Amino acid sequence: MEKVILIKYGELSTKKDNINFFLTKLKDNLLNILKDLDVNIVYDLGRMFIYTNSDINKVIDRVKNVFGIHEFNIAYIIDNKEDLNTYILELLKEKEFKTFKVESKRSNKKIPKTSIELSRDLGALILKNIPNIKVDVHNPDLLINVEYRLNNILVYFEAIKGLGGYPVGTLGKGLLMLSGGIDSPVAGFLTIKRGVKLEAIYFESPPHTSREAKDKVKTLAQKLALYNNEINLHVINFTEIQEAIYKNIPHEYLITIMRRMMYRISAIIAHNRNCKVIVNGESIGQVASQTLTSMMAINEVVKIPVIRPLACFDKLDIIDLAKKIDTYETSILPYEDCCTIFVPKHPVINPDKNKCAEYEKLIPYEELIYQAIKNHEIIKISNEDKNEYSDLL
Ligand code: ATP
Ligand code: MG
Repeated sequence: MEKVILIKYGELSTKKDNINFFLTKLKDNLLNILKDLDVNIVYDLGRMFIYTNSDINKVIDRVKNVFGIHEFNIAYIIDNKEDLNTYILELLKEKEFKTFKVESKRSNKKIPKTSIELSRDLGALILKNIPNIKVDVHNPDLLINVEYRLNNILVYFEAIKGLGGYPVGTLGKGLLMLSGGIDSPVAGFLTIKRGVKLEAIYFESPPHTSREAKDKVKTLAQKLALYNNEINLHVINFTEIQEAIYKNIPHEYLITIMRRMMYRISAIIAHNRNCKVIVNGESIGQVASQTLTSMMAINEVVKIPVIRPLACFDKLDIIDLAKKIDTYETSILPYEDCCTIFVPKHPVINPDKNKCAEYEKLIPYEELIYQAIKNHEIIKISNEDKNEYSDLL
C-alpha cells in the first residue's frame, strides 16, 4: 500500500478542449515549487498523483499554495483487490469516529458489483470489526472514499482545500504595479489566481524614499513569488520625473500627472516584457486619484487594458485578504512610498484631461521616461525559502 497525494482540479475540469494544456502547466508548476524535494508526478486516468520520498507534510504545505487545485487528499494505493479489506481496517485503526459512510466509485467496469453494493459490503465489514460505530449517510464523522480503478484501488478520507483558480501561466502575463501598500499585493494575488503570470514594477524616488521602502517591496514580491513560481521586479528610478512634476506643475495636479507618468512607463515595460495587461491595486473612491473621473484622466494615456481586481472591494475586506496571504504585516511597516511623500494638501478630485495635457507640456517627460526605462533595474526573485544570508554562504 503506497501513500500518495491525490490532486483534484475543480474549475479546470470545465476546460474540455484544452484540459491537457492546463494540466501540463499545473504539473510544471507543482514540479517547480517542489523542485528541492524528491517527488514524482503522474497524470493517469483523469487524476493527478504526487508520489514522494520526502516528508509528505512538507509537500502538502507547498501544494496548498498552488493555483488550479480545488482540493487534494492523502490517498492510499492498493494494488491487489484481495488486500483491500485488510488495509482498510488497518487504516481505520488510526481514525477516531463514531459514524461513517463508505462512498465507492467504479471506473473499472469489469467489477461485477454496483458501487452501492461495494459500499454496502465494505460497510458491513467495518461494522463487524470495529465496535461502537454506526453508519450515517447524511453527516458522517468519517467519509471513506474507495475508487476501483483499472489497475488498483484508491482509498482516501477527508479532503484538504486547495486555492482553486487556474494554474499560473495558463492565461498569459501581466505587469503588476507593486507599491509598498496593502492593496497592490492583494490585487496581484487575485490576478495570479486567474492564471496570469505576473511581473512587477516599482517606482522609487531616492533619496526621498528609503532603502527600507524598497526592501519592503522586495519582501512583498517574494511573498507573491510563492504563487507565481518566481517574479521579476522592475525598479524604476522615478526621482527626476517626480521632481520635475513637483517644480513645474500646479500642486493640485501632482498626483494625477505622476500617475499618468507611472502608467506610461508601465505600458512600455509591459510591452517590452510581453505582458498583455497592467494590474494595480486601485479601488473606486479610495483616494482622490481613484474617483471615476481621475481614473479616466489617468487611464487615457495608455492603450493597454488596466485590470483593477480591487475596484469594488471595501478596504476592510482587502485587509482580511492581505492577512490571509501574509502580506499585511509587511505592508503596514512605516517606510514612506514615493506617492505619500509628494501628496499635495488639496489634490484635484475631478481632474480635467485637457489641463493634464497642458501641464505636461511644461516638462520634458518623454526624455525623462526614456532615461528612467533605459536605466531601470530588474531583480529576479525566486520562490525558494531563502534566509537573508544565503547569497553569502
Ligand atoms: P496600495 O494601494 O498598494 O495600498 P498605496 O495605497 O500606497 O498602496 P495608492 O496611492 O492607493 O497606493 O495607489 C494605487 C495603486 O497604484 C497601488 O495599489 C499600486 O498598484 C500603484 N502604485 C502606487 N504607488 C506605486 C509605486 N511607488 N510603485 C508601483 N506602483 C504603485
Ligand atoms: Mg491604495
